Amino acid sequence: MTASLIDGALISRHLLESLRPRLAALAVRGIKPGLAAILVGENPASEVYVRNKTRACSDLGLKSEVHRLNADCAEAELLGLVQRLNVEPSIHGVLLQLPLPPHLDADGITRKIVASKDVDGFSWENLGALVAGRPQLAPCTALGVMAMIDHEAIPLEGANAVVVGRSVAVGKPTALMLISRGATVTVCTSKTRDLARHTREADIVVVAVGKPATVTGEMLKPGAVVFDVGINRLPDGKITGDVDFASASLVASRITPVPGGVGRMTVAALIENTVRAAETLSVVV
Ligand code: NAP
Repeated sequence: MTASLIDGALISRHLLESLRPRLAALAVRGIKPGLAAILVGENPASEVYVRNKTRACSDLGLKSEVHRLNADCAEAELLGLVQRLNVEPSIHGVLLQLPLPPHLDADGITRKIVASKDVDGFSWENLGALVAGRPQLAPCTALGVMAMIDHEAIPLEGANAVVVGRSVAVGKPTALMLISRGATVTVCTSKTRDLARHTREADIVVVAVGKPATVTGEMLKPGAVVFDVGINRLPDGKITGDVDFASASLVASRITPVPGGVGRMTVAALIENTVRAAETLSVVV
């Protein structure tokens, strides 16, 4: 079997285009969704991510701004900026680009972003809502994977899904969303004894680990659908995922490429979260 590609560029364009009527409805009320990104220090990967996010905003006519702080900034300076953005009426989404320099408490500062503007979906309030099955602003990469599943009309009820990785940003929220849609979900971690034993049972495999070739073709059931979340930079500068694409694409029925797969969806989901936040914040009661 040679897998067909699940095209993140195409599906993310569909998702972004689908936002236009919602943006038009907000515009009628004089509301332009605004996203503020905070960048601390100089991290080339973070620069690329923030550039992609602000470009997606401007393509759709959202307001976007980037706030840059020095790598050695004091925590109080960063917290002051978060507090200002929390109450700035023209800003509906605040994102703190991670990782932060080690002297800053990334978890603690992330939780200072008010939940209604937490477009990354990492606040305890938003994560709790997801656990309760009442998602509000949910983590973007998990939303992106689910949007791909829906676009591809992949049946979830009764499907066996394996999520490799248990991060708060990706693995756990993806597993929760799959559970809420009726999949039977196994979450594997670095402590899992025999990863292949689990992945070989899976109809759907989502890999979010951060290590190339964590999952290879011989670890897959023929016909499985594979979502490769990983973004790894090789010594030659090339980007690769967590799945060995060459062998996996001979066994899987469908697979996401890296680049051009889940990463595009993460950006689109962030924009959708910003629009959702603007809609929610502007509700007149
Ligand atoms: P993370 O916080 O480092 O979590 C990695 C997870 O992988 C951990 O739960 C870890 O288990 C597990 N793990 C490590 N080695 C393993 C192994 N050999 N077998 C099974 N599980 C293993 O990383 P993350 O933030 O979730 O990101 C994962 C990858 O996705 C990275 O490459 C990141 O750059 C990428 N990413 C991509 C996007 C996108 O838009 N495409 C978005 C976010 C992240 P333990 O918990 O036991 O240590």
